[in-house]
Amino acid sequence: MVYHLAMKAIGTTLIVVDMQYDFLEGGALAVAGATIEMAQKIERLSTLFDQVILTADDHPEDHISFETFAAHCVQNTEGAKLAITSRATVLYKGRNRETEEFSAFAQGRRINFIEGNDVYVCGVAGDYCVRQTIEDILQYAPEKRVFAIVDMIRSIDGLSYIDRDPFSGKVRFVTSEQVQKRIAFRQEE
Ligand SMILES: [Zn+2]
Repeated sequence: MVYHLAMKAIGTTLIVVDMQYDFLEGGALAVAGATIEMAQKIERLSTLFDQVILTADDHPEDHISFETFAAHCVQNTEGAKLAITSRATVLYKGRNRETEEFSAFAQGRRINFIEGNDVYVCGVAGDYCVRQTIEDILQYAPEKRVFAIVDMIRSIDGLSYIDRDPFSGKVRFVTSEQVQKRIAFRQEE
């Protein structure tokens, strides 16, 4: 166990975006390919990181988002529950009825919660909340290195960041396998 702890890299944060039952297959606003198995893989991966942050939609019943999307992640419902239970800081968003809030770091709010210099992001949906989360980190914490774990992200449009980079080369795209190697053995790129 000591050996395992000693291998942990210093200064890595994993941000898991909205792995809530309503976004998983079978949920109220399901993202294709987002499954319990994916949540379990992310959970296992999370043990490698110094810090884990989960973000979660937590909407009132009449949230403005429901004009665009099917109602989802309504406060205190089963669908709002997180499919990941790791030791983690949970940042809730979308609580204000009038405000669409794809990212927990909108306007730079709570950006200081992110401790690691290397920030890895995964979750759903890649074309909405994951994307906005990454854009906020790039904007409000430009000193950080940002990695997207592409095989642990699913998008509503079915595309991967590999198909179409929305970040103009500012984000490093990695697989969960590469993350395991890079963090566990502290490999440089
Ligand atoms: Zn929402």
